[in-house]
Amino acid sequence: MADPSSFPVAVTDAGGQWRSARSGPRPNAALLDLLASDDEPPGGFRVTRGEPLSVGATERRIDVDQTNDSWVVGDAVVVKWVTEPLVGPHPAPERLRRLDAAGFVATPRLRGMVEWQTPDDFWVPVVTVVDLVQDATDGWTWCLHECRVALGVQQGDSLPFARGLGALTASMHLALADSPSGPVADHGDYHVGQVLRTPGGTMYVIDFDGNPTLPPEERVRHRPAAYDVAGMLVALENVGHVVQHYAPDLSDDEVVGWTEQVQGEFLASYQETADALLDETLLEQYVLDQIQRELAYADSHLPRWHYVPEAALRRRGLT
Ligand code: ADP
Ligand code: MG
Repeated sequence: MADPSSFPVAVTDAGGQWRSARSGPRPNAALLDLLASDDEPPGGFRVTRGEPLSVGATERRIDVDQTNDSWVVGDAVVVKWVTEPLVGPHPAPERLRRLDAAGFVATPRLRGMVEWQTPDDFWVPVVTVVDLVQDATDGWTWCLHECRVALGVQQGDSLPFARGLGALTASMHLALADSPSGPVADHGDYHVGQVLRTPGGTMYVIDFDGNPTLPPEERVRHRPAAYDVAGMLVALENVGHVVQHYAPDLSDDEVVGWTEQVQGEFLASYQETADALLDETLLEQYVLDQIQRELAYADSHLPRWHYVPEAALRRRGLT
């Protein structure tokens, strides 16, 4: 058993909320050492280890819009320290284990995870380590780029993505499904921002923490696959709304044309891979629900996003 004072994470009661924090002089390095060892964690923690990996010492913080505190270490792995209050149940451990067990390769490989046991006996992640996707572009960035190039607003290279995204989503659901046509342990917060793309066009799904705005029991629920599919349909539409917002000379027809084309390819490809999982009759209502959630979220947290769900409602004649 290792010296508990070298354990790189500490959990404290912060005014009635449990929170984790990095601990010690070099927490990223200490964590990777722990994963490379057989050391037992202190009581109340458990460690999951993936394929071992030796990682260099360089580190830099990822500074895009993110909820948690993520670092690239040794130009090889991403270490994500949870900064949200620790409440269970939490969806990520089950999702990651299912994907791993199913051999799903379109998510960065899990190298390790430390979980903490809440007073009401739920295991929740405090830090995860996954392979770095080299030279990855964030989903909103590459998808906005694709839309702008397709509509002639911007010059640049373009790579087809919609069919690949459909097949990727379907194979993720097959890995997460309880049965061939039943509910799936869904991603839960599925949109283009959760899909990294490499310069060669390979896509990776990230972030299985579920929807942060839902209560914990809701976050872990298994749902019809249509829920995630609707999330992505709304996201693809939103890309068009954002592009049009900054290029107001584009006509509605041009933007709708792009949106319907990529949505159609995404759906067709999904169905070719996992037809039995998708109940299409649920899509319309899930899409409307998602737009309403985005409106509420924009009102409470993100006013600069407000025009996007509003444009989606306007397109449907709902404002
Ligand atoms: P959060 O829950 O804090 O939003 P995410 O898991 O969504 O954290 O990651 C935040 C950002 O970090 C992503 O948008 C992406 O830019 C980058 N990122 C996350 N995982 C990887 C990875 N494996 N490889 C490359 N970049 C990553
Ligand atoms: Mg995220």
